[in-house]
Amino acid sequence: MKRDTQHASNHEMVFAALRSSNKPMTAYNLLGRLRPRGITAPTTVYRALERLIEAGRIHRLESLNAFVVCGHPHHDTIAMFSICSRCGGTEEIVEPKLQSGIAALAERSGFKLNHAVLEMHGRCKACAGAARQRN
Ligand SMILES: [Zn+2]
Ligand SMILES: [Zn+2]
Repeated sequence: MKRDTQHASNHEMVFAALRSSNKPMTAYNLLGRLRPRGITAPTTVYRALERLIEAGRIHRLESLNAFVVCGHPHHDTIAMFSICSRCGGTEEIVEPKLQSGIAALAERSGFKLNHAVLEMHGRCKACAGAARQRN
């Protein structure tokens, strides 16, 4: 373990790569991006992603099996995203009332909620507009 400082910054490199992308990235995308920078093992990427999720700095989008940087440092268990099926653009939505409403719903039904990522699939404003113009 001679390269402790290098090791410590792996997750920062993964975070920076994710942040530089305007679209969700898969672990495979990230590995491709970071290989020239010395990260060659998939497990390194997965470990970094896990750590970043635990720290609440990124979210995992289950349907895409991809990851995005959290755009809002202060929210608890529930994250919401709109995902454009045409351009792949993804936006994190923060609507505290709705989010705490969902948490309350879980609590009322006795469900112990760890975390939730709500995904809305459809067309972003730009893509919806482009589709209208063509017709
Ligand atoms: Zn978030
Ligand atoms: Zn779009």
